[in-house]
Amino acid sequence: MGSPLDNIRVVLTAPIYGGNVGAICRAMGNMGISDLVIAAPEPLDRDNVLRMACAAASIFNNRRETATLKEAVSDCILVAGTSAREGLYRSHSCTPREVTPRLLQSASQGKIALVFGRETHGLSNEELALCTEIIRIPTGNEISSLNISQAVMVCLYELFVCTDYYEPPTEASPPATSELRERMLDIWQNALLRIGFMEPEKTMHIMLGMRRILSRDTLSVNDVRILMGIGRQMLWYASQQDAQIQPSAPSESS
Ligand code: SAH
Repeated sequence: MGSPLDNIRVVLTAPIYGGNVGAICRAMGNMGISDLVIAAPEPLDRDNVLRMACAAASIFNNRRETATLKEAVSDCILVAGTSAREGLYRSHSCTPREVTPRLLQSASQGKIALVFGRETHGLSNEELALCTEIIRIPTGNEISSLNISQAVMVCLYELFVCTDYYEPPTEASPPATSELRERMLDIWQNALLRIGFMEPEKTMHIMLGMRRILSRDTLSVNDVRILMGIGRQMLWYASQQDAQIQPSAPSESS
């Protein structure tokens, strides 16, 4: 079976700025999605489209156009509309992050559409009524409306990172064993005593604190080796200091 990304269609409703459409094609290309449909098309400045699409011109060239939004989504099993506004018909809106698992689940079974509205006034209530989900990208209070290509990018990014397509970078160094961690903690304990950071009777208390801090995330072998190096350097530095304050040996002549 292919990737669910192959089943995701971006539907634009009567966009008027070629630059926006080009930027949307580029965002689609970045996020591994290529099915673009323009519903109720208006004339577009092709040069502006291509200028912003960069390497994703083929997405624009392979687009389909339909007279209405209804036609653009007719074969889709889920239709997610996007809107900057809240209120009537939009009260059940979700964020892209909330709705992404549901969208991907459906995209593993059939075509789904992500519908974006006009740059000037978004989607009409009739168009929103065709949508089974409504997505609203959260914003600060002042300006809730995003540039359409940025709205497309936010939605597609959330979908992309939730698929197997995206492999989060893995830690190259393996997790440290308990034995290695304990050796490092011994060195730190000696070093903290030597530099006078803790009194001997506070050793248990401070070292439990150190253990707590160092347990907040898995330490890798590299992490522990760096901490060991710091501990050893503290011990070395303390021994240098000790050597300097040793009273000098009595001179031969006295
Ligand atoms: N003034 C219009 C906004 C149009 S912006 C309005 O109030 O609806 C063009 C399109 O970008 C919107 O139709 C929607 O598809 C998308 N968009 C912009 N901001 C958005 C947001 N905060 N959440 C979801 N989609 C948004």
